[in-house]
Amino acid sequence: MNTQLNLNINNILFTFKSFICLSILVMLASCEKEGIEINPSPINNVYKIPVVIHVIHNGEIVGEGTNLSVERIERQIEILNEDFRRKEGTRGYNNNPNGGDSKIEFVLAKQDPEGNPINGINRINKSIVNVTDLGYNQNHYAQYAYWNTSNYINIWTTPLPESTECLVLGSSTGPETNLPGTQLLLLPQDGDADGVLINSIHFGESDIACHARFGRTLTHEMGHYLGVLHPWAGNDCEFNDYCDDTPAVDKPVYNIAFVGCEGELVAVNNYMSWSDDELMNMFSKDQIARMHYVLKHHQGRHALLSSSAL
Ligand SMILES: [Zn+2]
Repeated sequence: MNTQLNLNINNILFTFKSFICLSILVMLASCEKEGIEINPSPINNVYKIPVVIHVIHNGEIVGEGTNLSVERIERQIEILNEDFRRKEGTRGYNNNPNGGDSKIEFVLAKQDPEGNPINGINRINKSIVNVTDLGYNQNHYAQYAYWNTSNYINIWTTPLPESTECLVLGSSTGPETNLPGTQLLLLPQDGDADGVLINSIHFGESDIACHARFGRTLTHEMGHYLGVLHPWAGNDCEFNDYCDDTPAVDKPVYNIAFVGCEGELVAVNNYMSWSDDELMNMFSKDQIARMHYVLKHHQGRHALLSSSAL
């Protein structure tokens, strides 16, 4: 159960919630706040960020199978916002003194790249589109659709093989900034696609017999997209996630609390852990400060705040 598996599919690592999260496989890094000034307050009252959901489906009618319904997609975005806003009366609420309201909200894009009004959902029947097989990764799905990352966060939701259900949940690229630990994120290289990939059975809420059925995969991956690391980051007690208000830990955290590096219990309820969807309800203030830093200092992420798609 506590083994870390690396699933390498065509050279791409996927995030498993009980196992790997992509973003961070590669390295062993270091962590510490090294003189980076993180501005904890939003530029405005609330940051609004446009997202487009590319539904890459198997050809079903809308609402069936992998061609997810509008309701399921809208509910997923609502969950994402409940979590990011720590909204009272929802699963995303916590009263932990270290927990915070990120003041970040996600909005389904109201306009496509040509300026036509849309509902934020872009449906593509993958069975009638020919693409090169690049594996299960952002670059592969970007062949179906990839919109300007200064105007949209691209979220692809697509079915993965049944054998990966409840294991391969999603993955996200991360932003390149001066934040310590940035090298632990999955950083797109020149020409690589930037965005979030979610296995369609884990997108939104459902009654599947699986720990990842309440839409928290997207919350976790969006944390990476905005520069937040796993609490154990490089698996090092001294250098972990560069957040002083998350208990230091040097190995993956999921579901079962244990004593971390500094004698305190690790946070199984943190969204950046690999805990079950029903257990998670918290971003810490320092994690939120990293997101705000990214929104302020990363050119593409910053541009989202004034996107015409809003
Ligand atoms: Zn992760």
